[in-house]
Amino acid sequence: MKNTKIWLSSPHMGGNEQKYVQQAFDANWVAPLGPNVNLFEEKIQEYLKEDVHVAALSSGTAALHLALILAGVERDDEVICQSMTFSASANPIAYQGAKPVFIDSENTTWNLDPNILEEAIKDRIAKGKKPKAIVAVHLYGMPYQHSEIKEISERYEIPVIEDSAEALGSSYNGKMCGTLGDFSILSFNGNKIITTSGGGALVTKDKEIKDKAVFLATQARDNAPHYQHSHIGYNYRLSNISAGIGCGQMEVLAERVKQRRMIHEFYRELFADFPEIKLMEEPNEKYHSNFWLSTIVFDTFDGYEKREHLRTVLNNDFNIETRPLWKPMHMQPVFEKAAYYGGEVAQELFMKGLCLPSGSNLSEEELERIQNAVKAVL
Ligand SMILES: *Cc1c(COP(=O)(O)O)cnc(C)c1O
Repeated sequence: MKNTKIWLSSPHMGGNEQKYVQQAFDANWVAPLGPNVNLFEEKIQEYLKEDVHVAALSSGTAALHLALILAGVERDDEVICQSMTFSASANPIAYQGAKPVFIDSENTTWNLDPNILEEAIKDRIAKGKKPKAIVAVHLYGMPYQHSEIKEISERYEIPVIEDSAEALGSSYNGKMCGTLGDFSILSFNGNKIITTSGGGALVTKDKEIKDKAVFLATQARDNAPHYQHSHIGYNYRLSNISAGIGCGQMEVLAERVKQRRMIHEFYRELFADFPEIKLMEEPNEKYHSNFWLSTIVFDTFDGYEKREHLRTVLNNDFNIETRPLWKPMHMQPVFEKAAYYGGEVAQELFMKGLCLPSGSNLSEEELERIQNAVKAVL
């Protein structure tokens, strides 16, 4: 008896996506602009509640790249970046020819440690170069320590690029993630809480920044009857077809957040009987996570071996996908020359942590399979 695979996080359509895609076909708006792109941007703006402007783009990575450009990051500049994250947070720094400076995580949210952040800023300034931007990430949907990081960003006058790729639907102190940075980015890749199959967005409070982002994302065409260019442009706009999927997904986003949070409740009950396993929780009532992924850490000296045991048996014997937490960027071969500030918090999380199946489309039977499998292994 071979069970079907249980995935970490897979696309979950609401039902109306194809209606918007059909409208695009009917009107022949099969292009990287059109009514669905505009409507999708409006729906995101509305959802985020703040007075923000949204530019829908081809990916979260593209949004990060444009955010760095608009923050004025150029060749040989330094950009501070959370080490524990997906490589897409850091790669665009290299696209600009700039240098990432990686920072360790703190233990309550697993995100940028404000104390180490300030220490690093002081040290880089003492060495002769003030960092141009701070890339902070809400990992697995858990908001970073926003008040502390914003205070440092303002004191040293360094803008925050908020990587909210995993945190659409999360909030900090009642404010939606995706509105907390000087520049904010979202992702709609296939495994995120909602998807356009592939896509992203830049969110800003400044209409002029949005207009500049759209200008750069559509090959930087000057206002002329012929093709005239005074800037290097990019092909980063979201297609009207993908945006149609996004319009349908926005109708169910609130429900998706509820469902992911229920999956997290399920894991809280499941792991209550295993004191050496720590389920990632919100540190206090300021933090509201979409729990894009539910995650655990084996809080013992042999946590790595125990984590690997659970991961491999779930995969090999039960056909259940889990995955170690993100491998920190300062440990990645491609960034081995980059500066790093901190200790071993991120490294330890990587060694001992595990992401669990968290999709909003997990059925009762699948949850029961996970429960039985986990209990059998542990
Ligand atoms: C997914 C992700 C991105 C990149 O988004 P894409 O749309 O896949 O380019 C960036 N940062 C983080 C933290 C992510 O999880």
